[in-house]
Amino acid sequence: MNVRGSIKHNELLSRHTSWRVGGPARTFFEPADREDLITFVRALPAEEPLLWLGLGSNLLVRDGGFAGTVIHLHGALGALRLGTGDGVQGTGQDAVPAVQTIYAEAGTHCARLAKFAKDGKLAGLGFMAGIPGTVGGALAMNAGAWGGETWPQVSEAEIIRRDGGTEWLPAGDFRFAYREVEVPQRAIGFIAARFNVTPDADGSHERYTRESLAKRKATQPVGKPSAGSTFRNPVGDHAARLIESCGLKGHRIGGATVSVQHANFVLTEDGACAADVEQLIAHLQATVKAKTGIALHAEVKIVGDAA
Ligand SMILES: Cc1cc2nc3c(=O)[nH]c(=O)nc-3n(C[C@H](O)[C@H](O)[C@H](O)COP(=O)(O)OP(=O)(O)OC[C@H]3O[C@@H](n4cnc5c(N)ncnc54)[C@H](O)[C@@H]3O)c2cc1C
Repeated sequence: MNVRGSIKHNELLSRHTSWRVGGPARTFFEPADREDLITFVRALPAEEPLLWLGLGSNLLVRDGGFAGTVIHLHGALGALRLGTGDGVQGTGQDAVPAVQTIYAEAGTHCARLAKFAKDGKLAGLGFMAGIPGTVGGALAMNAGAWGGETWPQVSEAEIIRRDGGTEWLPAGDFRFAYREVEVPQRAIGFIAARFNVTPDADGSHERYTRESLAKRKATQPVGKPSAGSTFRNPVGDHAARLIESCGLKGHRIGGATVSVQHANFVLTEDGACAADVEQLIAHLQATVKAKTGIALHAEVKIVGDAA
């Protein structure tokens, strides 16, 4: 295939997931840039199974790996720039755009996007500062934290179709809910988005971001291998509270344990495998259901084949 990026075979996905577990991808593609990605997708056989990969921070890949093609965008599609949205405050030479947009490609780290907005004294994306994923992953998951969420900030998103064609679609074409996004059927992946941001005139958004990061550090096992929150919070409750109330903090299966600091985080240690994590997830679900009657649903995406 005539691409400029890198194509590898049997690349271990444990090298690309935050849990550091997961078997090999049959084919692993890292495009050189956006055009290269389009060339690659256009040439893919229609029946080839595809998995988009950002920073693998919400992904459990089973130990047998992924029998298809993984497209890895982090480190490739990282363009970031400021644009002007609709609406202007003031008149004449003093005019300040009331809403600006930031264009970010899908491989951009969320923290980089948040810093870019902060450096421009712009509000709206501070919640992304502590999310260790890419813009593509944030769009796919409707990532959010501390009251902020991805999709309410999106003005439009660029998607790619299976035939390699691309389209900019307004945010209204996507339905989103808590950690959930419904995309038009023809969209197989995100390649970029434009985010609405507003002037952070009094610096209050920057303060909120700083405080949120401090709260995250104090309450979450930051820096240990995890995928963040393992389960979605049930309506009106918290998965962490339910897991803790069942006495499951610190529970271990193989190399996977429930964090003692934050019970919705499952941590892995050297030697852990994806089956340990998946079994622990199943055990937490079964125990919480049996003791409280509440079903916990995984927030993390579980993909691939068992070993
Ligand atoms: C320590 C820690 C803290 C976290 N805190 C938060 C938090 O506060 N809030 C929160 O929401 N999440 C949090 N997460 C989870 C995770 O960071 C987010 O879900 C993030 O958005 C995932 O991005 P990613 O690039 O790593 O996606 P990946 O894990 O690589 O992929 C996740 C899903 O998105 C899909 N995907 C990725 N890129 C694309 C693309 N370009 N097009 C289409 N689909 C794509 C994948 O196929 C997969 O289904 C945390 C994780 C960790 C490890």
